[in-house]
Order: sequence, then C-alpha cells, then structure tokens
Amino acid sequence: MASAFRAIRIDKDESGYRADYAELGDADLMDGDVDVAVTHSTVNYKDGLAVTGKAPVVRRFPMIPGVDFAGLVTRSAHPDFRVGDAVIAGGCGLGEVHFGGFAERARVSGDWLVPVPEGLTAAQAMAIGSAGYTSMLCVLALERHGLEPGRGPVVVTGAAGGVGSVAVALLARLGWHVIASTGRSEENAYLKSLGAAEIIDRAELSAPGKPLQTQQFAAGVDTVGSVTLANVLARTMWDGAVAACGNAQGMELPATVAPFILRGVSLLGVESVRPCISLRRRAWERLARDLDKGTLAAMTETAPFDEALERARSIVAGKIRGRLVIEIG
Ligand code: NDP
Repeated sequence: MASAFRAIRIDKDESGYRADYAELGDADLMDGDVDVAVTHSTVNYKDGLAVTGKAPVVRRFPMIPGVDFAGLVTRSAHPDFRVGDAVIAGGCGLGEVHFGGFAERARVSGDWLVPVPEGLTAAQAMAIGSAGYTSMLCVLALERHGLEPGRGPVVVTGAAGGVGSVAVALLARLGWHVIASTGRSEENAYLKSLGAAEIIDRAELSAPGKPLQTQQFAAGVDTVGSVTLANVLARTMWDGAVAACGNAQGMELPATVAPFILRGVSLLGVESVRPCISLRRRAWERLARDLDKGTLAAMTETAPFDEALERARSIVAGKIRGRLVIEIG
C-alpha cells in the first residue's frame, strides 16, 4: 500500500500502557497543512517518559511519540513552505497531543515548522534537536539578562545529558569558563572535550545546603531542578542569573528567597514548546552559527529506527550520553 508507513505507536486501554512499532496509513495522520517525509528524529528525555509511561507526557491515544523531527516537505498548503523544503519541527505538542517524529511520515501545521538553517544538515539539526534548541534558549535568556563571559564562570548541571552537553559546548565556544556538574565521572574526559574548563561532582550540589553559600557562579544553566537548583541559586554571584529548564532531580524547588533579595540573583524560566516563531528562528540561526560542528559530531550517536524504542527506554535510566539521532528515512 503506497500510503503505508512505519511508526512507533503508544496505546493505552484496558490491557494497559504499551509502545510498539506499527504500520499506519496516511488516513491515520492527524490534521495539518504540511506533509513531511521524516528523515531524522532524536531521542529526548521526554520521549523516554512517553514510551515508558513514567510521566503523563502523552495526553491523547493512540500517539506517535517523538518531540522532534527533520525531513522534506512532500505536500504543502502553507504559504511559507514548498515541496522539497528541508524543515525542522519540535515542541508544539508533538508526541504529546499531536503525532510526533518516530514515524516515516508526519502531517503538521506549517506554523510549527522552521526551515533547516543554512549551514546545518537535517541530521545535524536532529543532533541538536529540542535538547540543543533548549540549551540555546537558555543561552539567549542569559544574554537577555546582560550576562557575558567576562562576568565569571557559568555552571551547567546535568552536563553529560542532552541539554547539558550542548549547553557546555555552546557556552565554551562563546568564551565562557564552563563548570560542568555531572554524576558520571567516567564522562569527565568527554565534558572536557566539549569545552568544560572545570568539572564538579553533582553530589556537591544535590544535597540540601545553606540559603546563601560562597559566590561561585556568574550564571547557570540548570537541567536538574530540585535541591541542585536551590544550591546553584545559593552560589550565584551578585546580579547573576540562572536559566532553569529541567527537572531531572525533581520538580520541587526547596530554596529560600535569600539569593533573590540579598544578591539580586534572577531565576529565568525556559520553556521550549511554545516560544514564538521569531524566537524559534533566531535560536536555530544562532545554533547554526555558534555550535562547532566537530563538537556536535563528537557528542552525537546515530541509531537506526529499529532501535528507537529501546533507546527511548534507556534515556530515563540515565544511560544515554549527549545526543542520539535516529535515522528514519
Ligand atoms: P538527559 O537524560 O539526557 O539528561 C539529564 C541529566 O541530568 C542526566 O544525564 C544527568 O546528568 C542528570 N541527572 C539525572 N538524574 C539526576 C538526579 N537524580 N540528580 C541530579 N542530576 C541528575 O535529559 P535531557 O538533557 O534531554 O533533558 C534534561 C532535562 O531538561 C529534563 O528534565 C527534561 O525534561 C528537561 N527539558 C526541558 C525542556 C523545556 O522546554 N523546558 C526541553 C527539553 C528538556 P549527569 O549524568 O551529567 O549527572
């Protein structure tokens, strides 16, 4: 059947919650004004949560997971895109309420698409993916706050993870003295290769500490949340800022207002799903310009579509380092 395509499908019914490969047809696709032949996707932490059901990421069943994809437009009724255009999609409810990137085909709103920027291939765009895009949103948030490398060191927590790895590479390339916090000492050499100037054990930040501690960081990118974020705030220098985007340690924030009211520290929230299209385009253009392609390759592993499900399950067990690209078509 010409319209048949392979996808990972998540179902939830009386026999339970399950994810598996399935063959679907074009008629199964959800509404959208652009069709894309997906060439690459990537595995994010959120995809791991979706396929395992460990958190209620999926809000409609059945669902095709995958919060990101890149591919070629095969049909378009949207004024910004034509057949053959190389495009990136990420966030916008993909893999949560709208069929996502773990499929050979996708149908989405053209408003969710960004052209693959000059200087990047579709594979590189997915090596960056939502994780790298979120890292860039963190960098842009710190820059909007007026922070620059001369102000002092920047800490990146969850540094060996997807968001953390790209943040380390980006900030180092931009001239920051990067302090990478990781729980995996076996990844120290990897983090140094990405540009980390110093590495600290995540245990230093993950246990409850005083509301104000010795000022150590001018800025921070936090992917971990919880006690770690509270300690990062407590160690941030006067007028510094921390861009918070993740909750790998936990959702709670057991902090005091002391860093805010006594040191003028700012906490900058970063959300990658709904930023406006102009911010999306700017972030992707900056990624194409600011991320060293050799460093990107060094942090990226590629796996065939057949392994996507198993790899998505591994990410919630903290077994994936850096970025993982899935070759789809
Ligand atoms: P990864 O699993 O690749 O990385 C998470 C990293 O966090 C791990 O590699 C580990 O780093 C660290 N970590 C894991 N568990 C703990 C723990 N219990 N205590 C302290 N550190 C821990 O995930 P991603 O990089 O893809 O995502 C990171 C976070 O960002 C997630 O919470 C994700 O949901 C969130 N996110 C948010 C987005 C947004 O829009 N705000 C967009 C994308 C992601 P190490 O081994 O180096 O210690």
